[in-house]
Amino acid sequence: MSRQDLPIFELESALVAELVKTPRLILQAPTGSGKSTQVPQILLDRGLLGVGKVVVLQPRRLATRMLAARVAHERGVRLGDEVGYQIRFDRVVSERTRIRFVTEGVLLRQMLGDPGLRGVSAILFDEFHERHLYGDITLARALELQETRRPDLKIVVMSATLDTGRLEKYLAPCATLTSQGRMHPVWMEYLDKPAGDYPVWNLAADELERLVREGREGDALVFMPGAYEINRTVQAVRASSVDCVVMPLHGELPPADQDAAMARYEKRKVVVSTNVAETSLTIDGVRIVIDCGLAKIARFDPYRGINTLLVEKISRASAEQRAGRAGRTAPGMCLRLWTEREHEARAPQELPEIKRLDLAEVVLTLKASGVGDVKKFRWLEPPDSRSLERAETLLEDLGALQIELPMSKEAAARATKPLDARCCSISPLGRRMLAFPVHPRYSRMLLAAHDLGCVPAAARVAALTQGRSVLRRAEGKQMAQEREDILGEKAESDFFILLRALRFAEQNNFNPQRCQQLGIHAGAAREAAQLTEQFLKIARDEKLGAEAKGEPNDESIRRCVLAGFPDHVAMRLDAGTLRCQLVHGRRGVLARESVVQHAPLLVVTEVREISTKDGPTTLLTLASAIEENWLRELFPDGFRETSDVFFDTTARRVIARRESVFRDLVLRSELSEKVAPELAAPLLAAQVVTGTCPLKTWDAAVDQWIVRVNRLREWMPELGIPAIVAADRFALIEQVCYGATSYKEIKERPVWPTVKSWLSAQQQAWLDQFTPERFDLPNGRRAKITYAESGPPVIAARIQDLYGVNEDLRIADRRVSLTIQVLAPNQRPVQITTNLATFWKESYPKLKLELARKYPRHEWR
Ligand code: ADP
Ligand code: MG
Repeated sequence: MSRQDLPIFELESALVAELVKTPRLILQAPTGSGKSTQVPQILLDRGLLGVGKVVVLQPRRLATRMLAARVAHERGVRLGDEVGYQIRFDRVVSERTRIRFVTEGVLLRQMLGDPGLRGVSAILFDEFHERHLYGDITLARALELQETRRPDLKIVVMSATLDTGRLEKYLAPCATLTSQGRMHPVWMEYLDKPAGDYPVWNLAADELERLVREGREGDALVFMPGAYEINRTVQAVRASSVDCVVMPLHGELPPADQDAAMARYEKRKVVVSTNVAETSLTIDGVRIVIDCGLAKIARFDPYRGINTLLVEKISRASAEQRAGRAGRTAPGMCLRLWTEREHEARAPQELPEIKRLDLAEVVLTLKASGVGDVKKFRWLEPPDSRSLERAETLLEDLGALQIELPMSKEAAARATKPLDARCCSISPLGRRMLAFPVHPRYSRMLLAAHDLGCVPAAARVAALTQGRSVLRRAEGKQMAQEREDILGEKAESDFFILLRALRFAEQNNFNPQRCQQLGIHAGAAREAAQLTEQFLKIARDEKLGAEAKGEPNDESIRRCVLAGFPDHVAMRLDAGTLRCQLVHGRRGVLARESVVQHAPLLVVTEVREISTKDGPTTLLTLASAIEENWLRELFPDGFRETSDVFFDTTARRVIARRESVFRDLVLRSELSEKVAPELAAPLLAAQVVTGTCPLKTWDAAVDQWIVRVNRLREWMPELGIPAIVAADRFALIEQVCYGATSYKEIKERPVWPTVKSWLSAQQQAWLDQFTPERFDLPNGRRAKITYAESGPPVIAARIQDLYGVNEDLRIADRRVSLTIQVLAPNQRPVQITTNLATFWKESYPKLKLELARKYPRHEWR
């Protein structure tokens, strides 16, 4: 079949015409139609690029390199000349390159340094149905760029299957072109019953043998989740009776081996591949597909707060794509290594990455490109707001964000605790972290490791936190003993045991039997070793000191763990307990099997909600002892020393408190009864005022005195008497309390000297003269005057005491009349008046007769 026969050429003229009209296009055509290899060439050859180049965005590194090689081959040019590619660690491009295949992250990074994308005339978003995080984000940024500085930039979104409705709205105005392609029927087979424990690679090989025996023709494509399963399958097929060439295909192979899988052979070819062959690469001649139904899928792990790659069941949509690989050239068949019933229970399709991954890395990239409020970013499909917040909080915890200064007043008012990320921009440290294509936890760890000279060890630790656990719980005494003998027991970090386990596995060549004896998971150890290599590669790429400088220092390694997991700092609640308080107000229980038995302060990498018979518990695992000053050194902004005083209601005394706080975690709290008097007095005074600690000697007389002062000021302002308002009263009480720190000390303290000191001697004399405590009646009796905050002052007097009083009784330089309660001999008021003259004349004569009869022994004038 010649190139020109590919289905995509049916759309060629429409594609060119549409792109001339509108610079946005959606292109939907089945796998193998020629989208990836032909569309870039069409753009170039039909002059749509001008003098610029086309960038083809690919989700997978393997496909990126192979597509570039294929296109270079078709054009008869050397790779790196007209056609090139760029993936992490591998860049085969030149000034002359017009068609550039790149992985998704590469273009976004390029946009950071070159926001206008000079020299790029078109961007093709290939395999867009996979909805990778960086694909989504890069598309949004490209649309923004096109709407602002680069209206000439052409954007083509390509995919084998697309939910075009949402995308069309998002890209509007845009054209959509669809090709049905050419598909032959594919016969489907399922397992009759679940495979159980039988290894999937053996099952695949057995089934292939059967299909070949039954006379099935053509090449076969077997899908397996990862390199390990692929290698096992290749071995199993080689050991079977099938006469064929067997080729593995996955990203970790050397390029020559990858090319070999795509080549044609005389014999029957069997390719065992990851999901790269699902839609990214087309292998011609395939008529048999055997699908294990699994793939490695990246997903946020809430326990560790990172993304992990897990082997999971693929969706029905993915399975459909895989099956389609058998019907490209002729009718074919697909065998699914699961039952039809189980198929119905599978998810219809994968969630887009934006809905299932941790967003910390992406948010950091967005912040670096100046997006202040990531919630307002033009998402194709917005992420959960909680996962955005989680990402921002983590970045802040890691020190990758800083408060935007100067913060506007309104922003400051809106800012909530913890720091409102809307006011945060990327910090210099955040910019350094950005260079690493890993989760920000690990970039922070690697940077710390660089400073501490322990990059190789940190890479191993990072790998151990990312993958599956390499150690299982020891089974039985013997295993526990042997494990202890070989791996050691005492350590300041659970990682040291894991590191020794990893080393043991490596030294024993990941031998499952040897590993099993110590409860080491050989497969997980192998993965950890591979992950370590990846981290080291990244470190070398970023010019970190990736070579070991002597034996790694225990302390340095623990510092690195802290650098990556500062949001998992925990403090033991007290010495004998496993219960811990964590930052961000959480509590948890340290795993019993942790080797970190005594350290008061630790960092854990897993924070896991589990349910126990006592209800839900937060279990903390993989702990490392840390020291307080490390927090201060690594996270100076998160560390505070505070001091305050407070009233302890039980001890009834004022206590001074000094605290060292990391974020919201109180690391140390020192209490002392030594409190400066000027701090203690107001706190005690407040307790007096609220009535919880009454002063014994502050009685009604004191209150009356204060009222008298205030009334005198009111009635005779010319005297310049200072009023006593609530604050003054408080100040007086404070003065009484001065020098004391406990209620016991102030309870009996005399208050009069302090209260009276409010007035000078002269003012006190005036007070006694003009607002006296008592009023002298003609018969020599002295009646008590009651003063209130408002209204006239009042005296109460028996009729007999008032004989001879014929006019108003006045005080305050005769400016204020007293209200007189006239009392009968039984002390009951018979009249309330200010004017006794009227009383004597009008009410008294009648009253006298009545009272005289009742109380004959009194004097009645
Ligand atoms: P699409 O992107 O639409 O799935 P491609 O452009 O990848 O299609 O492939 C178009 C055709 O080119 C395939 O059907 C295959 O025949 C051929 N092809 C692509 N890449 C290679 C390769 N590396 N080796 C051999 N043939 C290839
Ligand atoms: Mg393609």
